[in-house]
Amino acid sequence: MANVKLLLQESIKNVGRVGDIVEVSPGYARNYLLPRGMAVQPTPNNVKKVEARRKEIERQERERRRDNHARSERANSTVHLALRSSTNGWYAPSSLESNMNTLKRSALGFGIVAGLAALAGGHPYAQAPAAAPPDYSKVEIQTTQLAPNFYRFEAVGPVLVGNAGAWVGPDGVFMVDAMFAQLNDKLVAAVKKVSDGRIRYLVNTHHHPDHTSGDPNFGAMGVAILSRDELRAHLASGNNPTPAAGLPIITYKGPVTLHMNGDDVQLIPIMNAHTDGDTMVYFPKADVIMTGDFYRSIQYPNIDRNNGGSLKGMIDGLNAVVALAKPSTKIVPGHGPVVDKTVVAANIDLINTIRTRVAALVAQGKTQEEVIAAKPLADLDAKVQQVGTTGDRFLGQVYAELKAGK
Ligand SMILES: [Zn+2]
Repeated sequence: MANVKLLLQESIKNVGRVGDIVEVSPGYARNYLLPRGMAVQPTPNNVKKVEARRKEIERQERERRRDNHARSERANSTVHLALRSSTNGWYAPSSLESNMNTLKRSALGFGIVAGLAALAGGHPYAQAPAAAPPDYSKVEIQTTQLAPNFYRFEAVGPVLVGNAGAWVGPDGVFMVDAMFAQLNDKLVAAVKKVSDGRIRYLVNTHHHPDHTSGDPNFGAMGVAILSRDELRAHLASGNNPTPAAGLPIITYKGPVTLHMNGDDVQLIPIMNAHTDGDTMVYFPKADVIMTGDFYRSIQYPNIDRNNGGSLKGMIDGLNAVVALAKPSTKIVPGHGPVVDKTVVAANIDLINTIRTRVAALVAQGKTQEEVIAAKPLADLDAKVQQVGTTGDRFLGQVYAELKAGK
């Protein structure tokens, strides 16, 4: 059979670089490249999308080489970075999320994720196109009890994974977010340790795969999945859409309340913040708020502008958290440790400071590269945990937002 032409979504050793159109055997395409989202049909639209990412990866490589140079002169910070990566897993890769997101659910830990992990470790991407996929077997789920009937689950290991939560009681378990499919057995085992295992509902805070790719596993268990309309639309589309069993069966536009376990769970849509499908989840009696990724207590913020996220929406969302939370409320971010409202309020201040500084540079007519090169966050890095390259990522996002007049 004749070879087929495909557009590479990531660099693959002996095949090509991200953005290349290559000829491969139909079997390789059908059984390997396409199902894993490593390549797509070379339609004009796909070519445009992948080209943008290739440019971004090349820009990161240049930055990385510059950073490495600077880092080699500051051995301490290199050691620090290495320690963080081994104890807390990879939170650092710049634009990991937006890449995963462009790939939708397809990368799921292959290629791009590994490649960017390698990048964050200081290796130019070109030298690590065939890096091993992240080893999910090394991920451990740690359970923290936040209230008599509420538990937070954190994945600790070599993979970036969003926090999950479970609210347990006589009416069954209500879950927030599903982590990666590869971690489903471990997550379900952790939930069973703290409940009778009758998981009845699952709400997704947003569509990124480290929060939703376990959905089909839960769907297959008979769990009713809930989400915003926009979130379901993301999961149902893309190169590698979620199978029907994993799609939310209950969707909503406005706030939703579920009455169970003697309490009211409130699902509160947050408009155009991290993405266009964010939901904040509030458990009044347990005194817990789960935010998804419009708030994270590690790294600089991350706005997925390609999927409807916005700076204004993110600030509005953070203000909504501060308004809703009591001083005692435990706030579970999309990523990072549990915090209280004072920490979220400080995050709003941080974002406003950054916005003001970037706005001044935009007003001077600076390009995005010039803004990043000016290092306007240098004095703020100490306030942020696990900065990695997320400062530059956020600068780029704020620049684009302000440039677009938002
Ligand atoms: Zn996310």
